[in-house]
Amino acid sequence: MDLKDAIRTIPDYPKKGILFRDITTLMGDAPAFRRAVDELVQPWPGSKIDKVAGIEARGFILGGAVAHQLSAGFVPIRKKGKLPHETVRIAYSLEYGVDEMEMHRDAVKPGEKVILVDDLIATGGTAEAAARLLKDIGADVVAAVFVIDLPDLGGRRRLEALGVPVRTLVSFDGH
Ligand code: AMP
Repeated sequence: MDLKDAIRTIPDYPKKGILFRDITTLMGDAPAFRRAVDELVQPWPGSKIDKVAGIEARGFILGGAVAHQLSAGFVPIRKKGKLPHETVRIAYSLEYGVDEMEMHRDAVKPGEKVILVDDLIATGGTAEAAARLLKDIGADVVAAVFVIDLPDLGGRRRLEALGVPVRTLVSFDGH
């Protein structure tokens, strides 16, 4: 089974020129979903990962499954204003303008080993901000894992420059 075949591509969404890589078809395909989660966690069998941090929103679905598989806790990283308790926040650049993401200040204790999860890495701006947020509160970010890499956009290098190893399962040329 090729995981790539389970991912649907939608041209010109959300705007002209973008090939949107729709992971909902993979998540709806039981063998493909299981295989993706198994492959994402494959380097860490039996190792003590404390927390899995998922980036809103598709990172929550994959991250919850990854956390369960690793017997780790799950930590949501959300768009600002959604979390009820005291948060730490970071601004990051989007294609147009900036946005902010946040997590609960007490969600990760200093020194805890954390794996960051999202569906796709493109420019790496989103994941870099999430990794910085985790590092700022003292997390040991062991890796960042994604089902899909768009290698032409260079996201992997941005995370590696922060000292965070990157694991991806399939890649697509272009953006
Ligand atoms: P970036 O910050 O540029 O690495 O963008 C990553 C975030 O945007 C992830 O949360 C992705 O879900 C989403 N994203 C970016 N490009 C695409 C694409 N071509 N198809 C689907 N999602 C994308």
